[in-house]
Amino acid sequence: MPVLRPRAYVADVTSVDLASLRAVGVRAILLDIDNTVLPLHKDECPPKIAEWVFGLGKAGFRVRFVSNNWHADLRERVARFGYGVTAKAMKPLPFGLRNAAEALGVEPRECAMIGDQIFTDVLAGNLAGCVTVLVQPLTPSDLPHTVVLRHVERLIMANRAPEG
Ligand SMILES: [Mg+2]
Repeated sequence: MPVLRPRAYVADVTSVDLASLRAVGVRAILLDIDNTVLPLHKDECPPKIAEWVFGLGKAGFRVRFVSNNWHADLRERVARFGYGVTAKAMKPLPFGLRNAAEALGVEPRECAMIGDQIFTDVLAGNLAGCVTVLVQPLTPSDLPHTVVLRHVERLIMANRAPEG
């Protein structure tokens, strides 16, 4: 199913090919938080990931975090990056991503949605009309309901190895 297929699949965000995203018109990055930039249940962003996240803004991309997380501390956890946050985004519904694009002053097709889950990040991104990038989760262990989906994701991505 095309809506479940990411445009690119990479080991982690530092392997995202920003030049190729730019080449297809991407001006803004919508970033999932949990397991994409922060390990689950931890607030420490691995240094090389943090450097990459800071670097997006310096590279001229508009950036916004888009998370399904509803916890009150979500904004604090990513506050140091200085980017806006769309919480309770209700991915895989496309509305949160569309709102995020609007908040950044760009069209959804000018956004790359980068996240670690096919059934939330990739599906929402494709439904919203964004370019989608799947990353491998930072933390192998996962929320119980996600464990089942991970098996299905492995089936979907079976013939694809992550780049980087
Ligand atoms: Mg995630």
